[in-house]
Amino acid sequence: MPKRIGELLEENGIIDNEKIQYVLTIQKTVKKRVGDLLIELNFVTDRDVAKILSKQSGVPFKELYTYEPSKDALDAVPYNFSIQNDILPVAIENDTLMVAIADPYNERAKTMLGRFSSRPISFFVSPKSEISKNIEKFYYLAAHPIDEAINLIRENLLNNLAISVENLVNLLIESAIYNRSSDIHITPTEQTTLVSYRIDGVMHLFYALPPSIHTRIVSTVKIKSSMDIAKSNSPQDGSMSYEIFHEQYSFRVSTVPTIRGENLVIRILGGDNQIALHQIGFGERQLNMISKAIKSPFGIILVTGPTGSGKTTTLYALLQKINYIEKNVMTIEDPVEYKMSLIHQVAINEKAQVTFASAIRSFLRQDPDVMLIGEIRDEETAALATKAALTGHLVLSTLHTNDAVGAISRLSDLKIGSFLLSSSITAIIAQRLLRKLCLFCKKEYSVDDWTKKKHGITNMIYRHIGCGKCAQTGYMGRVAASEIILIDNELRLLIAENRSPTDFYEYTGRKGVKTMRDSAIVLLKQGITDLAEIERVFGV
Ligand SMILES: [Zn+2]
Repeated sequence: MPKRIGELLEENGIIDNEKIQYVLTIQKTVKKRVGDLLIELNFVTDRDVAKILSKQSGVPFKELYTYEPSKDALDAVPYNFSIQNDILPVAIENDTLMVAIADPYNERAKTMLGRFSSRPISFFVSPKSEISKNIEKFYYLAAHPIDEAINLIRENLLNNLAISVENLVNLLIESAIYNRSSDIHITPTEQTTLVSYRIDGVMHLFYALPPSIHTRIVSTVKIKSSMDIAKSNSPQDGSMSYEIFHEQYSFRVSTVPTIRGENLVIRILGGDNQIALHQIGFGERQLNMISKAIKSPFGIILVTGPTGSGKTTTLYALLQKINYIEKNVMTIEDPVEYKMSLIHQVAINEKAQVTFASAIRSFLRQDPDVMLIGEIRDEETAALATKAALTGHLVLSTLHTNDAVGAISRLSDLKIGSFLLSSSITAIIAQRLLRKLCLFCKKEYSVDDWTKKKHGITNMIYRHIGCGKCAQTGYMGRVAASEIILIDNELRLLIAENRSPTDFYEYTGRKGVKTMRDSAIVLLKQGITDLAEIERVFGV
């Protein structure tokens, strides 16, 4: 008989008793299982739960993304049975059916599955939410192959046969989500309409459709996103939402008139894929530095980098480290990207005069302990953030700068006096995102001596190849390469004395602060990314 999940998580140091007591209080009104409430309140992830159940039961834990369920495996188990029991058949290996299961103590499901299957079954544990997402996705795709459907529509268009534009738009969005894209670009050119997806930060061309379909696609999307279809000569913005693979997605849509027609860009604001700090790509030493910074009751912690460098993800991972039962956490964001249960999140709304600055002013009257300010981009916000940090609040925010040292001069540019700056700032994290090599196709190789020497490489490293599972890109997912500066007394003094960047770099060099490029090389040696990717992001 398994122990109660709360007890197990507590014994393994994943949550403390305070959180269990909190959940037991809430459970009196919300009649749900303790395990489910712990997950809903972000106290634990279902990944934590899966790992604990695996440890307790002896059934191995495996990452679901290392499998793309095969058709014969899916055919072996009916969809309804999978969905009811949170299991997913992924492969048939040596005549054994490999099955992911969320709850290894679900004996009933295991017995019944044994009756379905003529083959021996081997179970492994995976997080419940990932299993249910993948059930929807892969059973659906096994029955409705997307590329085949899009090809058929293209053939019909070329033969002047009728097609459903609505269906085409749905397929293009499904394909984008299946390929893990963040943006869909539908671009008119002279000969064709090009459909490209941004995957892990890089654009890839997926489909070329006959140009005659372009305006019809644009009109369909405009209607769905409440834009004016009569207007095609000025830029427009809109939004729409869809359920795809049984998951709700929101989309921000924008059109810009070009000389060849309207260029359409659809940004996918996906489900809630929050990730934990240790999954972002920080090394152990860096994680310790972050934990230290986040324990400070006041001061500013800054995450810096260009747009699309994962700053918000890191901010949220930092928030997860804060005990928000004991602390009042308020955020002002543009827009709110991840929803969290126990913190108070406010979205920018210019029309209603909710700006970064006005929100901070109101927050200060709401007795906060921690404030997350989406971005510091003007003098007023910078002044208010500093003031909040100096009056006993922990402030988390982001800045657009090239590196960690750049944050100091950026805040000076925003008219924060050197003395205020030196006494308010606690830590600076600068980061860039690198694409991770696809686990299915990455290949070991040995590099030339010159490169080995340059980067201190002693073993074999990997490079990208491209396969069906990574949309031929060779990469899957991203990881951050970062540099972290904790502000110590010596640096505080340098900031107060309003020293030049050269002095700050001299300091970081002397203290052995690992640069973003250093972190990237560590990821290279671990086989997580490759040289081509490092050169793409940091230059040669
Ligand atoms: Zn691949």
